[in-house]
Amino acid sequence: MRHGLRVAALAATLALVPGSGHGETAKAKPVTPQRTKYVEVALTSDLYPRLTPKEKGMVRLLIDACREMDAIFWRESYGDKRALLGSILDPELRRFAEINYGPWDRLNANAPFLLGVAEKPKGAGYYPVDASKAEIDAAAAADPLLKHPYTVVRRETGGKLVAVPYRVAFGEQVQSAAGKLRAAAVFAEDAGLRNYLELRAKALLDDDYRPSDLAWMDMKSNGIDVVIGPIENYEDQLYGIKTTHEGYVLLKDKEWSARLAKYAKVLPELQRGLPVPAEYKNETPGTDSDLNAYDAIFYAGDCNAGSKTIAINLPNDEQVQLQKGTRRLQLKNAMRAKFDKILVPIADHLIAADERGHVKFDAFFENVMFHEVAHGLGIKNTINGKGTVRAALKEQAGALEEGKADVLGLYMVAKLKEKGELGGRDLTDNVVTYLASLFRSIRFGATEAHGRANLAQFLYFRQMGAFARDAGAGTYRVDVPKMRAAMNGLSEKILKLQGDGDYDAVVSFLPKPGAMDPVLAADLARLASENIPTDIVFKQGIEVLEGARK
Ligand SMILES: [Zn+2]
Repeated sequence: MRHGLRVAALAATLALVPGSGHGETAKAKPVTPQRTKYVEVALTSDLYPRLTPKEKGMVRLLIDACREMDAIFWRESYGDKRALLGSILDPELRRFAEINYGPWDRLNANAPFLLGVAEKPKGAGYYPVDASKAEIDAAAAADPLLKHPYTVVRRETGGKLVAVPYRVAFGEQVQSAAGKLRAAAVFAEDAGLRNYLELRAKALLDDDYRPSDLAWMDMKSNGIDVVIGPIENYEDQLYGIKTTHEGYVLLKDKEWSARLAKYAKVLPELQRGLPVPAEYKNETPGTDSDLNAYDAIFYAGDCNAGSKTIAINLPNDEQVQLQKGTRRLQLKNAMRAKFDKILVPIADHLIAADERGHVKFDAFFENVMFHEVAHGLGIKNTINGKGTVRAALKEQAGALEEGKADVLGLYMVAKLKEKGELGGRDLTDNVVTYLASLFRSIRFGATEAHGRANLAQFLYFRQMGAFARDAGAGTYRVDVPKMRAAMNGLSEKILKLQGDGDYDAVVSFLPKPGAMDPVLAADLARLASENIPTDIVFKQGIEVLEGARK
């Protein structure tokens, strides 16, 4: 799954424009002057210049393979890329269509931004636009392949729905990508990477991804990595079944990865120290979590559309997860870009002037990393026979778990600093940076798990006096000792809600979907009026990487 700061869209407030159907591109004029604002960032890495010529040759091939995922994703998301872009005369609007891989604003509930474009089909490009759910359900009863993750559904001339395997539907692109992966495998000196590249090439051609997912889990020592193929299933809003093509080329940050491995080892000790009665921490967290830091040097397809992914948790195949777990990848340079271009400007408007100096990238990175590690703390099962926390809390489970990871992540940072393990003992950078990033996340709206979790934290900490708003300046100031106490309070509250599996209490604790605080809403509106970007878009490729060479 994607993780961290990938966001759901704001509630749809725009009237949808009736008109031509999916894929039609009649009169390409803007219908919404207020579009989501993106800021361009060159995607570079300090790790790239250190690669050998052979490794650079491999990177080039992997980028080319990923470009094929981009081409496939256009068809999954919209249809004919060339026709759409060719119909848009305004260069800025054309760029916006490229960023969104289609005429719908991904950060604004997929509202169409071109005149004459209808609402985005729920099933994107995976199903015929005229096929109803009832028709697909009925047809799938006879042919289960219609609901297979690696097929698209098409209508034959006679009207019958048929399943076309990805290897056929996207034959040209997957054959090209597989060829590039095989060529890259020849360059690979790491045996694990070579094996994975070969198996992944095979998977693109036979739609059997499990062997390559298993091989990906076995890679431990490679410095270059690639995530490629049909992976997530968010684009299929009709059933959430069809997988979507994407590609990332990644370079491992071995120094940070080594530090993370060290922190995972102290999890059992931190678990014992959680500020909650013994019965709520009666499980032992695993210490073998595969958590590493990377620089991403190329994004293609799904992960490059709209909001940019900065953390990955894969594979999604539950059989592979049961057998080998998952790998969690933190994309450090992409985080840095969001920090510089979005978080710092937000802090300049909403954090008290004398506290802004505490908003630092290292603190942001630590907070995000320990959020990930903190998912491993606490308990997975209720203490009163209600089964797993996830089952007991149903659709509320995700938002509460995200809140838990945020607050226990901060708790971990505080504990490690107390022990002198995390460069300096002052928690101020982390908590001020945390507050600034709350604003960033809440800005996307409390319509999904992360947004609701962030708003819940904001309201709790405000109530506890952990930070205060200066009404004159419209800025916020953290009170570190009160914050410290409130962190423990909120940790205890969330861990108990989970351990008790108390569904009703969670419903009343978390803000309702779409809820917003009026004062906060006014502060966030100031960010929009100041033109602070909502997300980033990459200038990327070999030329960009080479250009950044020192
Ligand atoms: Zn999380």
